[in-house]
Amino acid sequence: MNEPAANPSLIPSPGTLYVVATPIGNLADLTERARAILGAVDLVACEDTRTTGGLLTRFGLHRPLVSYHDHNETEAAEFIAAKIAAGQSVALVSDAGTPAISDPGFRLVRACRRRGLPVIPIPGACAVAAVLSASGLPTNGFLFAGFLIAKTSARTAFLEKYRDFEFTLALYESCHRIDKFAEEIVEKLGPDRVICIAREVTKLHETWLVGRAGDVRDRLLKGSLKGEFVVLIAPADFIL
Ligand code: SAM
Repeated sequence: MNEPAANPSLIPSPGTLYVVATPIGNLADLTERARAILGAVDLVACEDTRTTGGLLTRFGLHRPLVSYHDHNETEAAEFIAAKIAAGQSVALVSDAGTPAISDPGFRLVRACRRRGLPVIPIPGACAVAAVLSASGLPTNGFLFAGFLIAKTSARTAFLEKYRDFEFTLALYESCHRIDKFAEEIVEKLGPDRVICIAREVTKLHETWLVGRAGDVRDRLLKGSLKGEFVVLIAPADFIL
């Protein structure tokens, strides 16, 4: 009897970059395709070899790793793209979530595109998409601004610039500034603006605060400020 044909989408092609999403907390969110590609590429380019080495080991996978992070991105992108041009298959991952989304990746993808090399996404977890999808805030359009810079004047300028924006605003925020940011939103956009602050999504201490900015700020300050946060701000006329 003939063996069933292998699913070609689970087998890496030579000379290809795979942009592979990894879980943002819950390891069960690693997709079957991600697992197959990560277990079979010639090389895995990752932010932190210990983090990705740990993830691969959890799934019984063992592939050579190469560092690709904020501090070596420019040189590493050229080095890795040259390997792909020479016929190697490479998976790009970040510490968590989708590479190139507020994470290193863009330069390597661009280096491949400039050389005409194939780049294939292996989609999966992404904090901003997860939070938008379950927030109840409008999702017909949104502006994802990543992390705002820490300077208060820049953050105030952002909130003022987008005060009347017609779509939902989506941001990543660090645990060191989330309380201050919630306060700034109340101050600049008013306590009735509808916002969502989601913490530790897919993890043990997952917490959702959705409602008027003044109430969300008060509830936030009563809970733990540890962990990872996504902030959404609804358009001014939106009522939950
Ligand atoms: N590339 C990642 C992605 O696809 O979401 C984002 C990486 S960025 C360096 C890390 C930020 O994403 C965190 O500071 C937080 O704002 C957000 N984030 C990541 N995981 C999260 C989670 N489980 N819950 C809430 N926010 C999360």
